[in-house]
Amino acid sequence: MIISKTYDVAILGTGIGGTILGAILARHGLKVLLLEGGAHPRFAIGESTIPETTFMFRLLAERYGVPEIGYLSNFQRVRRHVSSTCGIKRSFSFVYHRVGEPQRLEESMQFSNAPPPLGPDVHLFRQDVDAYMLSVAVGHGATVQQHAEVTDVDFDGRGVTIATRHGGAFRARYFVDAGGLRSFLARKLDLREDPCPLRTRSRSLYTHMLGVLPYDACGDTHVDHGLPTPLSQATLHNLFKGGWMWVIPFDNHPSSTNRLVSVGLQLNLDIHPPTGAPPEEEFRRIVATMPKVARQFERARAVREWTSLPRLQFSSRRTAGDRWCMLPHAASFVDPLYSSGLAVTMSTINILASRLIQAASDGDFSAARFAHVETWMRRNFDYFDRLVSGSYNAYRDFNLWNAWIRLWMVGGLYGALGVLARVVHYQGAKDKLLDAPCEGFPYRGIQGHEIPEFAALFEAAQREMDAVVAGELASEEAARRIFQHVEASGLWPEPWGPARPGKRNPGGYNLALLMRTGQWAIDRAPEVVRRHFSRGASMPVILKLVADDWADEVRVSIGNAALHLRDYFVMANGDYDVAARRSLAMDTAPPPAEATSEPAASTAGAGPLSAP
Ligand SMILES: Cc1cc2nc3c(=O)[nH]c(=O)nc-3n(C[C@H](O)[C@H](O)[C@H](O)COP(=O)(O)OP(=O)(O)OC[C@H]3O[C@@H](n4cnc5c(N)ncnc54)[C@H](O)[C@@H]3O)c2cc1C
Repeated sequence: MIISKTYDVAILGTGIGGTILGAILARHGLKVLLLEGGAHPRFAIGESTIPETTFMFRLLAERYGVPEIGYLSNFQRVRRHVSSTCGIKRSFSFVYHRVGEPQRLEESMQFSNAPPPLGPDVHLFRQDVDAYMLSVAVGHGATVQQHAEVTDVDFDGRGVTIATRHGGAFRARYFVDAGGLRSFLARKLDLREDPCPLRTRSRSLYTHMLGVLPYDACGDTHVDHGLPTPLSQATLHNLFKGGWMWVIPFDNHPSSTNRLVSVGLQLNLDIHPPTGAPPEEEFRRIVATMPKVARQFERARAVREWTSLPRLQFSSRRTAGDRWCMLPHAASFVDPLYSSGLAVTMSTINILASRLIQAASDGDFSAARFAHVETWMRRNFDYFDRLVSGSYNAYRDFNLWNAWIRLWMVGGLYGALGVLARVVHYQGAKDKLLDAPCEGFPYRGIQGHEIPEFAALFEAAQREMDAVVAGELASEEAARRIFQHVEASGLWPEPWGPARPGKRNPGGYNLALLMRTGQWAIDRAPEVVRRHFSRGASMPVILKLVADDWADEVRVSIGNAALHLRDYFVMANGDYDVAARRSLAMDTAPPPAEATSEPAASTAGAGPLSAP
């Protein structure tokens, strides 16, 4: 076996997680090897973003000096810089269905995403986004091998030797498994917990479809539902007693060049155990019980084979060790509900990348250094498992669901605000690598679940839910009590209106509501919110953010129109000069922090996206 070069970090898998981590590390001068079993473009699941994901993209871009990650941070940026194949996501919409009955309009909920400059969020067409991020990683100096499935790893005191199918052999000082649910390392090191201890128990059927009608065109529009944004410009959740279904359109705005819609069905295993029927048949059978949804899918057809996964949940005994770690989707998974996968992945990359950069510099790759990465993942999975399993329990009764989802709304607000506060922090931070405010109290990442006040609210609601499941409490009474807990916590923002069952959305998140919520967080919210989530924010800061965003949009639009006009009349131009200067600036810009490794020369062999 001839190995001519040792990499600092070898990453298995070039999904969005592996490529973003690879881009960051290469940008900081580490020698990075990305190994992909398949080849881009390729299908990937995990398409719906939430504010915590998109704000995390901003944070990674700002902290690690990789602006291209920031291009994923809202719909407009993705549309402008990455791809026209992604969809717009103005809200999370939930419609509750009773088997065989017409849908009751008032049994629907909506939670709007932020407007510009922060949102709207986006439905990522992963095959294009992942391919884009791979080219970004290559652009920053990572080496890529496609068609290079990792088949063996051998750890020793100094690093790891990696073998790939077709005879490839590589050496690295550290190994990251970003291989998703098929995780090679979990199999090799026998890490999976069996049986999986997670409370959530669901199975999944999914595909991409053509010919899915927009929900608003199937009879009742969002106005009929009394909801602010069109249901077809949302990630649409069709809920029913035995599970839920996602509809994620990529074709829901005028400039889309993609007619596909992502569709998936999540079934509660205790109500819908596997039947052995073909996935499409099962899908059609469930859809037929919801008249409006049946209409939506009348003419729809799958454009790729259905994927059918038995129990979707899995977990690992360990997620980091000496000279290795796993990204979240290789380590554990709960459920697509609430789209937490990408948010947890990005927040893990945030705490992992700084450690790897330090480790490459001082040579200490010991497990102790990465212990927090493991703790962080575990906390997040545990929280989401409780939130999601509670949701499956709540599907038995719309009233209970209507109450339970308030927890997710409150948590989502503080999770997102927390990340945003850190983005602002990094804008002024001197040492962005060592400065790690996300790692101390109150762990401002996912859903703000480390805030004691929120944790107490969650515990109280959980007790009510457990009592319902045990048959000790009627669901209507539990719902009433959960609303009381939410109100008493003081965490529900005044500008959203009262936390009452009839208030099925906090309002259309236009700029005015965004400002009012911001103002509430700055000067009227409970002390914990003012102290941790709005420090440094003020109306002038928010207004400047809006003005900069608008000015940027105008500058780009006018610039494009001017170039277009010029091209009617003039062939000669200096555009190449702009490109050359930009490329030169990239090559000579020092990474934001010191790292001992030299930038890697890209030597990729197999893949079409390898650097020359
Ligand atoms: C049904 C479902 C729905 C989901 N929906 C959402 C959602 O709406 N929103 C959200 O935020 N998250 C969602 N998730 C989670 C989301 O998919 C993951 O968080 C995300 O894809 C993780 O990205 P990744 O790059 O770590 O892994 P992946 O995107 O899975 O990429 C793994 C890569 O590793 C490669 N690979 C695997 N094994 C090897 C090997 N041995 N050698 C070389 N290469 C290998 C694969 O070919 C692939 O390219 C969903 C997950 C599931 C299962």
